[in-house]
Amino acid sequence: MTEATRELPLSRPWIDDREEELVLEVLRSGRLSLGPWIERFEEEIAERVGAPFAAAVSSGTAGLHMLCHLAGLGPGDEVITSPLSFVASANCFILEGALPVFADVDPSTLNMDPAAVEAAITPRTKAIVAVDMFGYPSELDELRTIAARHDLTLIEDSCEALGARYKGRPLGSHGTDAVFAFYPNKQMTAGEGGVVVTHSKDVRDQVVSLRNQGRSYGEGSWFNHVRVGFNYRWTDVQAAIALAQLEKLDRILELRADAAARYAQLLDSIDGIETPRSDDADHQRSWFVYVVTLAAEIDRARVMESLRRDGVATAEYIPCIHLQPYMREQYGFGEGLCPVAEGIAARTLALPFYTQIDADDQVRVAEVLRAAVAA
Ligand SMILES: *Cc1c(COP(=O)(O)O)cnc(C)c1O
Repeated sequence: MTEATRELPLSRPWIDDREEELVLEVLRSGRLSLGPWIERFEEEIAERVGAPFAAAVSSGTAGLHMLCHLAGLGPGDEVITSPLSFVASANCFILEGALPVFADVDPSTLNMDPAAVEAAITPRTKAIVAVDMFGYPSELDELRTIAARHDLTLIEDSCEALGARYKGRPLGSHGTDAVFAFYPNKQMTAGEGGVVVTHSKDVRDQVVSLRNQGRSYGEGSWFNHVRVGFNYRWTDVQAAIALAQLEKLDRILELRADAAARYAQLLDSIDGIETPRSDDADHQRSWFVYVVTLAAEIDRARVMESLRRDGVATAEYIPCIHLQPYMREQYGFGEGLCPVAEGIAARTLALPFYTQIDADDQVRVAEVLRAAVAA
């Protein structure tokens, strides 16, 4: 491949001297886990998202799993979530033995349609896991009203949405327990990691205990275990990376929004390409990925093949959870369960998108895509 056609990755973290500096500080301190950097990070992220409490954990999935565990979910319970999400949104309660029920999405927001959520409720429903897909805030107020009316626990999977705002306030500040994640393709990263943000001190204390083998932090010795717990601990090395990322989070979000606006402009004139929904007064997206929807008559496999041949990474983003092989096998789910999500998932693809993406590279992506779609 020549320099002109060097591979453009789908995502890439923005790491510089500051991350190195803080990681070195942690390494030299000798406190690699359960040290002060994790607490510092928890204080800063809580303030950042407007939640009184935060507990950092080993991954977004771990955070969601512990919230499901605390909700007391178990066999015989049903939990409603989005079919158009990453498998963790369902696995977090399947691990507790609960049954997944999928509520179809709104074709414009790609988040669960509150009417579909309400229609999916049965006497066995115990919780809703709402997802802020591709960084676009879900209909939090409607979902909270539904959850309250039916006495359900509402958990927000905000793993793709750090920095997004709903009705003018950041996700995390609205009172619902939420989880953000720090895998390297997320807006900010720590390599791996996640954080539970909550407005309940009790939830925070329980997550802190659960993440560390059910230890009690009150009276008694270090080996005082008051419940069955997990090892979902994070490390201070990761907290150091995350603290450096947090320092530049405003800049990260701004650069990503700029890159998204550039794509929207570049792709606007291409027939058969639909770009992501724009913000409105109630919903301000935090840009996670850049996913376009192809017109039904365009052969997606051929377009993706053509992008890759020209050095542009792409991916089907994102296949429906209920159509994953293990879902079909365990629950007998199949096509037709969530027609809206299925129709969209069959036509979407992700383009290279990251904080420091070069404007010229975006022009190249647009040209390659234009040619691929026209061919
Ligand atoms: C990234 C992500 C998660 C959590 O992922 P981890 O890899 O466990 O940190 C959960 N839900 C969604 C929708 C995600 O995109």
